[in-house]
Amino acid sequence: MAETKLQVTSRLGLHARAAANLVRVASQFQSSLTLQRLDGNAEADAKSILSILTLAASRGTDLRIIARGVDEEEALNAVVGLFSRDFDETEKIEGEKYSRVTRELRCQGLGVSDGIVIGRVLRLQQGARDVYRAQIAEGDLEREQRRFRAAVRLSRRQLEAIKDRAEKELGRGHAYIFDAHLLFLQDAKLTRDVEEYIARERSNAEWAAKVVGDRLLSIYTQINDEYLRERGSDIEDVIQRLLANLTGEGPKYPNLLENAVIVSTDLLPSTIAELNLNHVKAIATDAGGWTSHMSIIARGLGLTAVVGLRDFYERTRTGDPIIVDARRGEVILHPAPETVEQYKFAAHKPGPTTAEAKVNECGPVVTLDGVQIALRANVELPTEFQAVNDFGACGVGLFRSEFLLSRAGLMNSEDQQYEVYKSVAQAAGEHGAIVRLFDVGGEFASDAKVRERNPALGLRAVRFNLRHKDIMRTQVRAILRAAAEGRLSIVIPMVADVADVRLAQRVIAEEVERLRSEKTAFAEVQIGAMIEVPSAMLTAEKIAAEVDFFELGTNDLVQYTLAVDRGNDKVSDWFRTLHPAVLYGISRTVGAANGANIPVVVCGEMASTPAYAVLLLGLGAVDLSMIPALIPRVRSVLSQIKVDEAREVALKCLAAATAEEVEELVRNEFKARWPELFPPHALPKVSESPQ
Ligand code: PEP
Ligand code: MG
Repeated sequence: MAETKLQVTSRLGLHARAAANLVRVASQFQSSLTLQRLDGNAEADAKSILSILTLAASRGTDLRIIARGVDEEEALNAVVGLFSRDFDETEKIEGEKYSRVTRELRCQGLGVSDGIVIGRVLRLQQGARDVYRAQIAEGDLEREQRRFRAAVRLSRRQLEAIKDRAEKELGRGHAYIFDAHLLFLQDAKLTRDVEEYIARERSNAEWAAKVVGDRLLSIYTQINDEYLRERGSDIEDVIQRLLANLTGEGPKYPNLLENAVIVSTDLLPSTIAELNLNHVKAIATDAGGWTSHMSIIARGLGLTAVVGLRDFYERTRTGDPIIVDARRGEVILHPAPETVEQYKFAAHKPGPTTAEAKVNECGPVVTLDGVQIALRANVELPTEFQAVNDFGACGVGLFRSEFLLSRAGLMNSEDQQYEVYKSVAQAAGEHGAIVRLFDVGGEFASDAKVRERNPALGLRAVRFNLRHKDIMRTQVRAILRAAAEGRLSIVIPMVADVADVRLAQRVIAEEVERLRSEKTAFAEVQIGAMIEVPSAMLTAEKIAAEVDFFELGTNDLVQYTLAVDRGNDKVSDWFRTLHPAVLYGISRTVGAANGANIPVVVCGEMASTPAYAVLLLGLGAVDLSMIPALIPRVRSVLSQIKVDEAREVALKCLAAATAEEVEELVRNEFKARWPELFPPHALPKVSESPQ
């Protein structure tokens, strides 16, 4: 054995290019070469770039180098020589070019839930898709390992081509990073770990690559040295490429550390639904608005969230320190120590979605003039079912069942769905639960291959169901069977007119007949229609004559009435819930339901904002459904007002010409009538017209 001690003297430490040169030199010898940090924190194999980088050896780090083998003396001398020549870095890196600005950076977006979180960035690439675990038969394990090796080879060819181009177009100095990527791919540690994982866990190659990649990445995110930590994003790149080549799909999300803040351009609701909430504490996205599904889910899960941050994603790296302040709709990247101190106190304050906010009151709320208002729960995930009781909801007004499909392309079996519907019925109790048929398509479409040009106007909701009747039939059967165990209804999403309703009803009726003839236990259910597009609103009387109840989806009603994409931050100034056209649509829909003597449940986000809920009462609504945690707040306000007064305000609003006029009216009227219930900050802002 030969060994020596030395110190890292090069300015950027043992960074990717230096490590690449070290691997090259070390690999020329038969002897093993080990690097140990003298502070005892880590040890690395000098022939593995991944291993070297996890040493996080910045300038000034003391190392011991140990060589063992037939040519140990020569090997040691060669490595020591390389260290003394600062790793032969002939093309010096200009410090400013590669060191990122770490000054505090504040960005303003829209806070869509409560809370303040101090954490670390975890970047999720747009279009990221989930990797699923599959159990591989013993006999197929070798084929799985071959598949992985083939993906490595393909990735290598791609990277070589990219490197050639970078060299030609940008010069060698810029292409070196792809050398490092290539070395990651060739690294025996990576390939060995993945192949071992496949064999040991009988896992598919995708899952094995993800687990091994995540492990590496989580080591990187904890490195203190800013420059070295950034190499984590190189590993992220390589792993994403490998996974993409393995699956032919998009990139995946990496492992999660404590207090992770997911930063992304946009997030699929299904991705949020699958996050490990023990680790993820907040999300910050470039796109999105108050009624985007990702915002709705974040609120439902009590996740702190700021959306609409425009180009924030590009400014971050995984591992960067960050503060997310959803109350102010602000994110702070690289917060200064004073800022962190200021926020530490606030970050501990519980938000209203925490356990303390739970209440004992349940059942309908009665207004001062004796009108009973039902307050129901909107739920998306089985983890939220418990909240239905915790917050005193009158059952479930809307179960957005499509979140069962969070694993893209993976359909839950009839039996699996049956279990979920049974448990939502149990959670809902005597008031029952309204299960929405899958509202997929639109912003849910994660697969680039099937993404439509204009998804919100595309094969969404009932249209998707009618085109994929097998999926629809499975869901309907599962609901009908579960209805034998508890009170359930079905609502058909996004119907455009009576024709959509009839087509869907026919499928449901056929499944009823089939279950009957099979003698399977089931119960018939009430069938309702979601009124959320202008054509349905304008023909609401006709639809009301053919269904058992309405659900009014104000989120989509605003989107489609005003032709404003609900998830597009660029047009968020045009997304005006208090637009007179929207209020007219609500009033008309409620009137049509009353005329046909059927109930109407308002289940868009509007119902959960106390001032808007009062207006809804004024427009005739007596049945509201919202995120469970927001029920106590709405309950408290509605128990202190008179519907008669709300009606007077609503009538004035209906006569207004613009959204600003309505907002102004609401502020003035509410201030005059209910000053204690609605202090200025609890009232809708009077937004300027978009310039
Ligand atoms: C709505 O559109 O208001 C609604 C309740 O459904 P979703 O938000 O899921 O589209
Ligand atoms: Mg909707």
